[in-house]
Order: sequence, then C-alpha cells, then structure tokens
Amino acid sequence: MSFIVAIDGPAGSGKGTITKLVGEELDFITFDTGAMYRAISYYMLKNSISFNDKEKIKKMLKEIDIKLEFENREQILYLNSQKLVKELRTKEVNEVVSQVSHILEIRLAMVELQRKLAKRKNVILEGRDIGTNVFPNADVKIYLDASAEERANRRFKQNLDNNINNSSYEEILENIKFRDYNDKNSDIAPLKQAEDAIYLDSTNLSIEQVKDKIVEIIKQKRNEK
Ligand code: C5P
Repeated sequence: MSFIVAIDGPAGSGKGTITKLVGEELDFITFDTGAMYRAISYYMLKNSISFNDKEKIKKMLKEIDIKLEFENREQILYLNSQKLVKELRTKEVNEVVSQVSHILEIRLAMVELQRKLAKRKNVILEGRDIGTNVFPNADVKIYLDASAEERANRRFKQNLDNNINNSSYEEILENIKFRDYNDKNSDIAPLKQAEDAIYLDSTNLSIEQVKDKIVEIIKQKRNEK
C-alpha cells in the first residue's frame, strides 16, 4: 500500500532540507515539485515565451519533457534531456517562477505529472499545494512555516554553500516576500494550510528537531494504517 506525505509551506521554510532528511531516515522517495515550475520558468525565459501567450504555452507543454532522476537520493531534473541544476536557482528564475507556476495550463500539466510520479510506494512531495490540491487525501500533511527573515537568512546561507552568489540577503528577503504574496493570493491553487495539515513553525527549531518531529508523525500514522 502506498503512503503519501505532503509537505507544504512558503519559500525557505526548510521543506527541501527536511524532506531529504526524512526521506533518508524512512527510505521514502522524495520529490521537489518547485523544481518543475523552475524548469518551465527557465525554458520560457530562454525561449522568450510570454506569460500571456496561451497558444505558445500550450505548444510548449507538448514539446517539453520533464524527467526526475535520483543521484545519491538527490533529485536531478532533466528538461528535454538537459540536466538543470544551477539554472533552476538563478535570480531571473526566482523573479518569475511564482507567476509562471500560477498559469492554469502549466499548473494542470505539472499536477498531472506529480500524481503520476507518486504512484510509487512511499513518497514525500514538497511544494505549495500538495496537501490542498495535488493529494488532498495524503496520509500525512505538514505545513512548514518560519518568519520571512529567518527564511531569507537560510536561503542566503544555502546559496553560499552552493556557490550561488547572485543575490544579497536584502534581495532574497524581498523576493521571498514577493513570492509569498503571489503564492498566497493566487486564484489557482494558492498556498494555504490544508485543514487537516499539522502546522510546524521552524523559526526557532533546528533542522534535526523538525526532522525528528515529522519522522515521529509519519511513524505514528503508519502504525495506525
Ligand atoms: O519550492 P520553491 O521555492 O523552489 O518553488 C518555487 C516556486 O514554485 C514557488 O514560489 C511557487 O510559486 C511555485 N510552486 C508552486 N507549487 C508547488 C511548488 C512550487 O506554485 N507545488
């Protein structure tokens, strides 16, 4: 029987890091759904596809092929066989991704893909609308939050660790607030806590503490199932 965990929350709330750690500990396959919207944003920027051009967007969706593979449990995204890593985390992509992700045709195509991917055994998907829209019947739903300042701080450090030095702390904070606004106020699958999601504020918790809490929640649910 498959077991689905949905981890949603705003940018920089720790979803990516926590999802990886929980996946490792429990041997679940993990999916970063934001990377898919980032890949499409990259493609649209590269090919100068206007966000209002529905015809071109529909054509693009037929042309692109997004594949997720795993190297040492790390998700690697291929867009039409091109491996994308740093391309997904540029300032340009950050600036448009929350707009791109709320284009209806794009959202529908990505949600379909996410539902297909999760047809495996035990999976954790992290994103914005997993518990509310993609898998409303997920076995465990977590809404992970933290203050905008703490989230910007984490992203800034994460970028340094990954040798991505394209934004200052202030720029990251501004972008996080901008994306929060877009993600929460969209008509299409807005970011919000599902009624049956467990709310976790990680502002003053260590990564280890958040990971342990989530692992415990999942273990308990699995025992009940
Ligand atoms: O998680 P990450 O910050 O990489 O996501 C990038 C953007 O993709 C978010 O700001 C959001 O606009 C969008 N997104 C979404 N739904 C998801 C995952 C990401 O709208 N399930």
